[in-house]
Amino acid sequence: MPDRSAEIAIVGAGPAGAHLASRLAADGRDVVLFDPKGAWEKPCGGGVPTRAIREFSFILESSSYPRKLVRQITMISPLDRRVTLRLDRPFAVYSRKVLNGLVLDRAIEAGAEFVRESVVDFAREGDGWIITTDQGNRWRVAFLIGADGAASPTRRRLVGIFPKRDLALAFGYNVLSEDAPSKTNGGNGIAQTGVDEVIVRFPRDFTGYLWAFPRPGVMNFGVASKLGERTSDELRRLLTDFVCDYYGGAMPDEERVSFFGAKIPTLDLVSWKDLKTVGEGWALIGDAAGFADPITGEGIYYAFKSGDLYADAVRDVSRMAGSSEVFQIAAGAYEKMWREAFGRDLEHASYRLPHFYHGRFIGRIFTDAMILLARYHKGVRTILGKALVGEQSYVTLKRDLLRRAWQVF
Ligand SMILES: Cc1cc2nc3c(=O)[nH]c(=O)nc-3n(C[C@H](O)[C@H](O)[C@H](O)COP(=O)(O)OP(=O)(O)OC[C@H]3O[C@@H](n4cnc5c(N)ncnc54)[C@H](O)[C@@H]3O)c2cc1C
Repeated sequence: MPDRSAEIAIVGAGPAGAHLASRLAADGRDVVLFDPKGAWEKPCGGGVPTRAIREFSFILESSSYPRKLVRQITMISPLDRRVTLRLDRPFAVYSRKVLNGLVLDRAIEAGAEFVRESVVDFAREGDGWIITTDQGNRWRVAFLIGADGAASPTRRRLVGIFPKRDLALAFGYNVLSEDAPSKTNGGNGIAQTGVDEVIVRFPRDFTGYLWAFPRPGVMNFGVASKLGERTSDELRRLLTDFVCDYYGGAMPDEERVSFFGAKIPTLDLVSWKDLKTVGEGWALIGDAAGFADPITGEGIYYAFKSGDLYADAVRDVSRMAGSSEVFQIAAGAYEKMWREAFGRDLEHASYRLPHFYHGRFIGRIFTDAMILLARYHKGVRTILGKALVGEQSYVTLKRDLLRRAWQVF
């Protein structure tokens, strides 16, 4: 016999799982949320796009969760051309431990039961599940949500792992920094300007990019590229060179630096059509479902949004159906909702990905052309700025850029 029971179990207390837990618990649902790590420094840039801040206003509401608001981005092209964009609306950069803490605190306050244990097994019993944790505890639940990230063990059991073509590999360094701004100049001209600024560099012949994100007390550096395109050694070398440039030619002292690496779901075009995110008694959200932008690797917005959509579906269905079917009927509605809300745009991003990193525009490498045009045209700068903070649809990106580009000539 299981020791405990709940209506719905959520595996993983990242932004997707913890946000869904807080929404369901606030609506009076009996929710158990599992995560052995609680709030932790998940490998990530921690960039929370403007769209996420706008739609989920609670993210910025409390000053107890420190973050940086970034209003300036410098982009460097494969030909070393650069442009600095000032953003009308900032985006936020968080330590992931802080961001996850913010969302988890809300879930607990809303009444979700948080269990700091890992789910190691689950099995169908009747019309529900028996879940077993690494502490040997057993829970009986009616419905199961997999919110356990890109390497999701829940997904592995229910659907299978993501194939190589659907993943990017990312490495990074967190470097402890003085928050007082420095004025030094980087060896390769990457200047530390004294302003909280994000730097994005597009290496040549590379499906991905390098970044420098300022967080409170930390500079976060990273590189992400399609899995299998470059070896781990090559990626690490690129990243180390980038960090050295930033600090004027040498890596910072070892004790200030920590290294991280992880995978990001970046679905191939062919994977979207049959992407399975719901089944009998279960649904997947966030990275576990495959929801990250294939071009930028940005997944925090989609983690929040997919959790939110499932909670909306449960709320809508609750008004119509008997309690035992609510979560299953909601899962069907959720599948339609995510495809409509962002699925089409992410699928289009998968289609655009080869053109974005390897295509040509007005006779130049695409990213170089964008940066060149942005230097001379405010309209192009606006579109680029919106694309970088997640406010520009990929479906219309090329059309919008072309319209503005013609105005330059
Ligand atoms: C290097 C890197 C940089 C990135 N930078 C950005 C960025 O700047 N901006 C952005 O928007 N996105 C970024 N992303 C993507 C972003 O990190 C993810 O999209 C986001 O964290 C997804 O949230 P999630 O809640 O779905 O999953 P996660 O945040 O991965 O959370 C999953 C949780 O599940 C838990 N878990 C795993 N297994 C179990 C188990 N068996 N039982 C219980 N719990 C379990 C884990 O402990 C974890 O807390 C980056 C990713 C990487 C790898």
